[in-house]
Amino acid sequence: MNGVLNTGLSFGQFILSVLVLFFGVIAIKVTFNFDLNKYLERRDKRLDLKLKNSCTHMQMELLGRDRDNKAQYRFQSLFESPSGTLQWQCQRCGLIRNHDNDYEKRAEYYAQNPDEYIKMHNKFQRLLKKHGAA
Ligand SMILES: [Zn+2]
Repeated sequence: MNGVLNTGLSFGQFILSVLVLFFGVIAIKVTFNFDLNKYLERRDKRLDLKLKNSCTHMQMELLGRDRDNKAQYRFQSLFESPSGTLQWQCQRCGLIRNHDNDYEKRAEYYAQNPDEYIKMHNKFQRLLKKHGAA
């Protein structure tokens, strides 16, 4: 006989090394999970911020075309103020603000630059996919 399972270890040493291995694996797992969660949380926060930054907070609607065949759009703010609160929340990205008074300025800007809106919107959709939410 050459120790337990031919390892050259006595039974006590064998049990001890199994336990050390066992707890070592658990410790690595716990550390890894902990870091992974932190990493995912950080990544989510970064993505969330990117999403909020690339959200137009507006809904674009094609109204039709004018005589020069130029597309006419209508823009609607996605900010809503839940009753009983003074804050406004974007129904698309979740951004919370305490006003919606630049809505006309933004609508005017996107009415002049509908391409800009589409570009932003596509970027937003891409980020959403990355986020796993679409
Ligand atoms: Zn938004």
